Amino acid sequence: MQNFLKQSDQNPVALETIFEALGTTNRILVSAYRERIAAGEALKRAEERVRALHERLSVFQPESELSLLNASAGCSSVPVGKDAFLLLRESKRFSALSEKAFSITTRALSALWEIHARCGTVPSRAEVEHTLSLVNDEDIMLDEEAQTAELRIFGQSVDLGAIAKGYAADEVRRILIEGGITGALINLGGTVSVIGESKHVGIQHPDRTTGIPMGHVSICDACAVTSGDYERYYEVDGTRYHHIVDPRTGYPSRSGLRSVTLIGESALALDALSTAVFVLGAEKGLPLIQQAGLEAVFVTDQLDVFCTDGLRGNFELL
Ligand code: AMP
Ligand code: MG
Repeated sequence: MQNFLKQSDQNPVALETIFEALGTTNRILVSAYRERIAAGEALKRAEERVRALHERLSVFQPESELSLLNASAGCSSVPVGKDAFLLLRESKRFSALSEKAFSITTRALSALWEIHARCGTVPSRAEVEHTLSLVNDEDIMLDEEAQTAELRIFGQSVDLGAIAKGYAADEVRRILIEGGITGALINLGGTVSVIGESKHVGIQHPDRTTGIPMGHVSICDACAVTSGDYERYYEVDGTRYHHIVDPRTGYPSRSGLRSVTLIGESALALDALSTAVFVLGAEKGLPLIQQAGLEAVFVTDQLDVFCTDGLRGNFELL
C-alpha cells in the first residue's frame, strides 16, 4: 500500500499506484480527472478490486474459488462468485471459438511443465500424453441458476492466467471512468488499457531485456494485450520451453510466432484471443482477429514484424 496515491514525478496532477497482484506488477497512472478527491478514491477502489480478484481467482491461493474448484474435480460442484462464473463461461466460449487452442484446462499440463522447469528437465512423452487426456474445456460444467461449477474428471484443473488480467483491466477501467477519470494508463503486467489521450504501447523485443521495444503502437481509448514466449520460459539443451501450452500437443506451442499483440476495446477478449492466436499462429489466427474486429502486431520466429491493415500509420518499428 505504500505507493498509494503517489504523486507522479512527471505530471504534478497525476496519481499513481504500483502493486503486486495476479502474479505480476500492476501500475495505474491517472493523468486527468474531473475532481481530485473522487479520482483518488476511484484509484483506491480499482486497486482493491484487482487485489480481490487475485484472492478469488488465483490457483496459487489455496483458498481461492478456483483452487476449491480444482480440488473438487471429479467429485462435486462448488459455489463460485460472479467473477469466477463469468470468466469460466467466457473461457468456454473462447475455447469453442478457437477450436480449443484456448483451453483453461491446460492447468494440468502447465503444472507438469512447472515441476520439470524447477528440475531443469523435460517431461516424457508418456507423461505429456497422460496429462493431455485431462485437457478439455467442455468438461467445465456450469450451473447458471445455482452459480456452481464442476470439473467432470478427477485430476482436471483450470487456471485463468490467460484471461483474468484482461478482465481485471476492464474492471479497473470501468471503476476509473465511474470515478470521473478522463485520462489514465492502466498496465497490469503488460495488459494495457488507455483511457483518453493517445499513448505509445511498446512491442517488447522477445530477446532483449524487459522494457526494450521493437516498435510501438499508439492507442487512444483502447486496450493492447500481448502473448509471447519470452514472458516465462526455461531452456534445456538449447531448446526454449515457454509457458503457453498447445492443448493439441501438450507441448509449449510452436506456431511460428514469438509474440502477438492485439488491439481493441475489451481487454478480456484481447487477453483470451492473444493466447489463442499465439497457439494457432498468424495464418489460422487471422480470421479470429478479423471476426472480432481487432487489430494485431505479430513478431515471428525470424523476428519479422507485421501488423494488420488498420494499424498502418499507428505502428512504428524502431
Ligand atoms: P497469456 O500470457 O495471457 O497468453 O497466458 C498464459 C497463461 O495462461 C499461462 O501462464 C498459463 O497459466 C495459461 N495457459 C497456458 N496455455 C494456455 C492455453 N493454451 N489456453 C489457456 N490458458 C493457457
Ligand atoms: Mg491471454
